[in-house]
Amino acid sequence: MSGSPRQDIRSLTKADLEDFFLVRGEKKFRASQVYEWLWRKSIRSFDEMTSLSKPVRQLLENHFSFCAAVPEIRQNSGDGTVKTAFRLHDGLLVESVLIPSRERATVCISSQVGCALGCLFCATGQLGFTRNLTVGEILDQVTGMRDAGSRMQNPDFVNPEQEFIISNLVFMGMGEPYLNYENVTGAIEKITSSDGLGMSPQRVTVSSVGIPKMIKKMADDDPKYHFALSLHAATDAKRDQIIPFNKKHPLAELTEALKYYHKKTARRFTIEYILFGNFNDSVADAKDLALFCRNFPVKLNIIEYNPVTGSGFTKSDPDRTRAFIDFLEHRNLVVNVRQSRGKDIDAACGQLHLKLKT
Ligand code: SF4
Repeated sequence: MSGSPRQDIRSLTKADLEDFFLVRGEKKFRASQVYEWLWRKSIRSFDEMTSLSKPVRQLLENHFSFCAAVPEIRQNSGDGTVKTAFRLHDGLLVESVLIPSRERATVCISSQVGCALGCLFCATGQLGFTRNLTVGEILDQVTGMRDAGSRMQNPDFVNPEQEFIISNLVFMGMGEPYLNYENVTGAIEKITSSDGLGMSPQRVTVSSVGIPKMIKKMADDDPKYHFALSLHAATDAKRDQIIPFNKKHPLAELTEALKYYHKKTARRFTIEYILFGNFNDSVADAKDLALFCRNFPVKLNIIEYNPVTGSGFTKSDPDRTRAFIDFLEHRNLVVNVRQSRGKDIDAACGQLHLKLKT
């Protein structure tokens, strides 16, 4: 077919759809039907809109396209973790990870194809940035992973009588979510609204490397979801070495934005800290982290590193990890320790993509 590409139907608002039908002599309520198929039932083709007549479906197909993200490559880990690469309409790939715990699971999704920030420990950072994901492509990862969970055969994981539940959704996959702010917040709206998937915003976490001006914007928008800061080093001297973005926006600027967030929202946020062996895992590093945490009420997630080939970073050894955590706990900080999952399947986001490229 020649001419300009047809518009992705999921970029339209409900009002846009109403106008579309009204100018063609169709009833306005068709827009509500279509909207429900798109966002609540999250179908991925016009043919699936079975409550619409064939001519109406054809009308939509003549004017719009369906830019869906389709699950293509799946890797299953021995520990139950499932990683999926989704093929986008333009041939690009993004990754999502499902981390099960009996009939529930945490799903980690991507917000961009690649990432411009180039953090040195991160597989996605080695890819560079290609483009932002749309609201529809972000939502497709959620429904695609939910469906993957429902089909899993592990009897310890899914009770066939029960519906599969995503207990937590984290934006911790490929990309920096706050550099795709409009689409990420638009997707969260669809994921959490009664017009969409109806998931509680309390179960959604956006994890960011910490873009000061976007933290302030997010605070002004009064989000109902959780915010997590990927800190990984609590001094500029160390953070500059692993997160190039920190050189332009050092910790003083980040701290000021985080204080603003706390003042506006009165909410506690999470600080994520990956432990890299002999880099940021000494008791002196723990002391720096405790000092940073004195600025606001926080919860700490200490994360075991899932090594990325060629990064030069390794995981911390158990004795250093224990001493690091003990120090923080003695300072009365709330500390959760997260083991890395899916080590046998390159589950850190960007790893599968990187492997497919090479
Ligand atoms: S850690 Fe996050 S912000 Fe840094 S390069 Fe990876 S995806 Fe981008």
